[in-house]
Amino acid sequence: MDSQTNKLAFELAFDDGWRYAPAPESTDHIRLDKQYELFIGGEFVAPQEGRYFPSINPATEEQLASIALATAPDIDAAVAAARKAYGKWSKVTAAERGKLVYRLARMLQERSREFATIESLDGGKPIRESRDIDIPLAAAHFFYYAGWADKLGYAFPGRTPRSLGVAAQIIPWNFPLLMLAWKIAPAIACGNTVVLKPAETTPLTALKFAELVQDAGLPPGVVNIVTGAGDTGAALVNHPGVDKIAFTGSTDVGRIIQKAIAGTGKRYTLELGGKAANIIFADAAIDQAVEGIVNGIFFNQGHVCCAGSRLFVQESVADEVVQKLRDRMETLIIGDPLDKNTDIGAINSREQLERIRSYLKIGEEEGAEMHQSSCPVPDRGYWCRPTIFTGVSQSNRIVQEEIFGPVLAVQTFRTLEEGLTKANNTPYGLSGGVWTDKGAKIFKMTQGVRAGVIWANTFNKFDPTSPFGGYKESGVGREGGLHGLGAYLSLEG
Ligand code: NAP
Ligand code: MG
Repeated sequence: MDSQTNKLAFELAFDDGWRYAPAPESTDHIRLDKQYELFIGGEFVAPQEGRYFPSINPATEEQLASIALATAPDIDAAVAAARKAYGKWSKVTAAERGKLVYRLARMLQERSREFATIESLDGGKPIRESRDIDIPLAAAHFFYYAGWADKLGYAFPGRTPRSLGVAAQIIPWNFPLLMLAWKIAPAIACGNTVVLKPAETTPLTALKFAELVQDAGLPPGVVNIVTGAGDTGAALVNHPGVDKIAFTGSTDVGRIIQKAIAGTGKRYTLELGGKAANIIFADAAIDQAVEGIVNGIFFNQGHVCCAGSRLFVQESVADEVVQKLRDRMETLIIGDPLDKNTDIGAINSREQLERIRSYLKIGEEEGAEMHQSSCPVPDRGYWCRPTIFTGVSQSNRIVQEEIFGPVLAVQTFRTLEEGLTKANNTPYGLSGGVWTDKGAKIFKMTQGVRAGVIWANTFNKFDPTSPFGGYKESGVGREGGLHGLGAYLSLEG
């Protein structure tokens, strides 16, 4: 169906008396306080300078809660609490540690509906995604690392695994609870203690998680949560009492951190940006590939480090793929993140929306052709229609730079070698995708594309057992799986 017929069918359906029926998730079951304090040493404590900032619902622009702003004295207190707790936590039996991490996993599952709703309210992602992906995967990480807690010697045979000490953990706003799980689960399962800073725009699920930590009976100070913006993160990174830094965010901030800690002996992992190639061969199952393209770039509004934001289509099927993609885009529903029908929720913040809009302008100025879906968007809140650019070239900024929004740059290739060369023409190396009917092509491409994760005939699949991380400017180190466990241990001798 082309987009014109598609629209017609939509209108006819309306004439038949069919009406779009929203199915919003209820918010009756969630409890949000008006104000949230810092979580330090097992208690919620007011910030020492008494400053607060709002957390906004990006779909309505309304304030959800007032959040404590942590400054240097609060970071001192949080690191001191983590250090004190480390003395005891590193000596707790491994079986006891595992039991408590399992307990966190089960409690997350039990309260998953509440966490999913708050995640969607605070960050703008569709409830279908937070309910089916973010929260279950976060719980899965706690289950997975709980299982390793008393088996570290088997994980690294012949070595003597020892915890590192106090981990400073800084996470972005695109998968708030999931990134928290990637960080906290392996750290505490290995016997470290943590101070975690969630992103300024999405602190709420981390603060609700702090309530779980209290309810689960974790010793005070094993997990500390400090809220704030970039300055708070910098104070945490630069604190001399920290042994390990785990950062997920932009390449620019990753660079600042790497410079700041050079020569300090602090261990670090950096999970940074991406600009993944999604490569479609002519022999691929085209309809499935189109679904994969949609998932690759429009999942979570394109706020995904491993998003398939550069599409490469083999020339002989390029027109067909682009037409099918445009038709499919017309069917995507944008709007209320709490509505179970919604495919594309709100852009996370006004700042991010402005950044995406600036790239749409850059794309047009660079001479690319922009195609957007025509679906209606709400009046209030931050929204961006699904967008693709055709007629782009390798040197265009929209091809080289990470936009972090629902914006896809489409290019073509003729031979496998050309596809490979173009796919690797990027400073990033986080992820990639290949779609083909031929196993040999899958092997050639997965070996040739320089990226930490490559999906074949699928995209954006995650599992706690599987390591994740980048090459080149996409980062240093891996999270997830055994690799993620090793990142929180010293393995000498
Ligand atoms: P960001 O600006 O780098 O921020 C990430 C976190 O660092 C936030 O908590 C931020 O605080 C904090 N921060 C900012 N400046 C800092 C500094 N100088 N020192 C220490 N911490 C500082 O990135 P973002 O815009 O939130 O997130 C988007 C980026 O994350 C994208 O580039 C995306 O690709 C990347 N990402 C990577 C992965 C991965 O696994 N590789 C996963 C998800 C996202 P604020 O609260 O002020 O922002
Ligand atoms: Mg928010």
